[in-house]
Amino acid sequence: MTNAGMYYLSTLGGHETDLIGAISRGLAPDGSLYVPKDLPRFDPQRVRGERIEQIAVELLEPFFKGSRLAPMLEAICKDAFNFSIPLEELDGGMLAVLELFHGPTAAFKDVGARFLAAAMERALPDLAPEDKRPLTILVATSGDTGGAVASAFHGRRGMRVIVLFPRGQVSPRQKHQLTCWTGNIHSFEVNGSFDQCQGLLKNAFISPQISTSHRLSAANSINIGRLLPQMVYHAAASLWHWRKHGNRASFIVPTGNLGNALACIWARAMGMPIRDIILATNSNRVIPEFLSTGDWKPRDSVQTLASAMDVGDPSNMERLRHLIPDFGELRSSVEAYPVNDSAIREQIAVDYSRRDRVWCPHTATGFRVFDNLPESRRTGQSWIIVATAHPAKFDNIVEEVIGTTVPVPPALATLLALPTYSEALDPELDLLSNALDALK
Ligand SMILES: *Cc1c(COP(=O)(O)O)cnc(C)c1O
Repeated sequence: MTNAGMYYLSTLGGHETDLIGAISRGLAPDGSLYVPKDLPRFDPQRVRGERIEQIAVELLEPFFKGSRLAPMLEAICKDAFNFSIPLEELDGGMLAVLELFHGPTAAFKDVGARFLAAAMERALPDLAPEDKRPLTILVATSGDTGGAVASAFHGRRGMRVIVLFPRGQVSPRQKHQLTCWTGNIHSFEVNGSFDQCQGLLKNAFISPQISTSHRLSAANSINIGRLLPQMVYHAAASLWHWRKHGNRASFIVPTGNLGNALACIWARAMGMPIRDIILATNSNRVIPEFLSTGDWKPRDSVQTLASAMDVGDPSNMERLRHLIPDFGELRSSVEAYPVNDSAIREQIAVDYSRRDRVWCPHTATGFRVFDNLPESRRTGQSWIIVATAHPAKFDNIVEEVIGTTVPVPPALATLLALPTYSEALDPELDLLSNALDALK
């Protein structure tokens, strides 16, 4: 491999590939995650783009260098960043909210899923040109991911999506978003837990029968094709703030699997004008405990109100430790604080009356961490808090706290008005195999 283009290394160091290889595999053959071989450095003065899709093209150009996708970068960014990502100022500009919930399924995962779908669709002719079968993308979901992936891949040529979700364990609106699709999206309501859905998916990949009769791929959140665009909105927000106010904003990022937060840390490492980065977790405290003790102790997750952050073994930690291997340095470059369910409820109520804003339970962890900062730090620098989902997506939790209904945003309302369809499936491999064979 030459130095002309960008390559991607597995964090265990056993594997190296190009952009299309990293996107189409997701996980490296040695079982670890891909990271860019070198993070490019930017001088923020020289980034010229104003709108997010322009900034995306400039920042991602080095990551696409040498790839057959490079000439399509602009088209991919246009395709992926097709909804607004506003930075809304509160409190006269010292505090702002980066609203990532204006996409089709009202959570930040829309950005990564759309970018991945746009890139995969264009990479398809290169993957196995002689293989005319559709690429069958399997997703196991406990809520937000499946809807974002279904929406992002819906109607794209040469690919179909199989969504597996646990019966009775997703919220009514999440279920609607998983089952309102036709055409190339197929939803299966599994009579089992999320872990059983995930087990079924893993077994499908290692089953010789399924993996030879279908062309399988995955679209889970560890795919580098989802992290790259997530880096872009942190970078864009920091640039917008810096151009307007002349200082580097600090970020607070609600965190579960550490994907969104890692993207923010990468943006800073690339030279973007970002000062402090603070992670907000729910009662799953593996990351805050690690940063305070140095002991990495992954464990089973506990259920919280911020369910999309219920992660006990955040997979992206290996990428963060690869970026900053020295623990002392890591600890001085990121902070993390946990927020429990009663504090989440309280924060939603407080900000509804004080700021007239309604947060989803995940976003509320970020505001709680902000409010708990010492006064001098809170008011002595600029802050951007990342809002990860629209509260209407979690109406079952939020409306009880604020005592009124949350208006549904137009994109979400469109999906909620569609009829739904799904098939029931017992969590057994031969049943999944039959279901796949039966698809057109
Ligand atoms: C997935 C998700 C998170 C957690 O993001 P990570 O990248 O896993 O840290 C937070 N909030 C919402 C609404 C999500 O869907």
